[in-house]
Amino acid sequence: MNSTLKSLFLDQLADMYDSEHRITKALPKLIETATCKELKTALESHLRETEGQIGILERVFKTFDEKPNQTRCDAIVGILSEGDTIVKKNKKAPTVNAAIIAAAQKVEHYEIATYGCLRAWANTLGNNEAAGLLEEILDEEKAADQSLNELSEEKNEEALEEVEVGSARR
Ligand code: FE
Ligand code: ZN
Ligand code: FE
Repeated sequence: MNSTLKSLFLDQLADMYDSEHRITKALPKLIETATCKELKTALESHLRETEGQIGILERVFKTFDEKPNQTRCDAIVGILSEGDTIVKKNKKAPTVNAAIIAAAQKVEHYEIATYGCLRAWANTLGNNEAAGLLEEILDEEKAADQSLNELSEEKNEEALEEVEVGSARR
């Protein structure tokens, strides 16, 4: 079967359209579980951005005269499921915020990889409007990852200190 670059692009776009929907459903649980106020705030603001990204993706489909299409993203299903497990396992432990940051950063890195490809392909396909919209999303994902990096410095330290104190746990 022959696939054109445009069909590859549209497949991956539908993949991310599905991913963003799943992420908006997963983030509230992480926000609720986080015990660090700055982490809650960072995740809340990225949840609002994520809702906006669904709308931006719809505009990207439109620039190709396509209706928004959603196909199950197995990768994000796996990343979110693993994140759910690691967060559950660390719930009520001093490591909870470190675990949430790790789970969230895996999502951001997956998004950065895919949006990077999508933006490059939009350029190759000569659709500059789509490339610009995808870059908007890409910049939000990178900024979200960066704010998680900053929070992790402090939260990882907390997790380490308390693990030493509470070594009876394991
Ligand atoms: Fe996103
Ligand atoms: Zn995917
Ligand atoms: Fe994101």
